[in-house]
Amino acid sequence: MICKQLYGPCEALIHGETAEEMMENSQKHAIEMVANGDKVHIDAMEAMRKQHMDMTPEAQKQWMEKFQNDFAAQPEDK
Ligand SMILES: [Zn+2]
Repeated sequence: MICKQLYGPCEALIHGETAEEMMENSQKHAIEMVANGDKVHIDAMEAMRKQHMDMTPEAQKQWMEKFQNDFAAQPEDK
């Protein structure tokens, strides 16, 4: 999957065996980009953090389920 499919702003490829690993790797990627001073990722991280803070536990569960479905629908090694 690419950064964009993981709610990020770019098209970097992110690899992971499981949805959890994918999530972890996308976070690592975002943190790396932010550490490099990438403004687009800084803004995206900030927006996502705000969005998550506003989410109810139920909405967070739905978000995770949607992500897992997206991941399951991906062909391998994408
Ligand atoms: Zn990215």
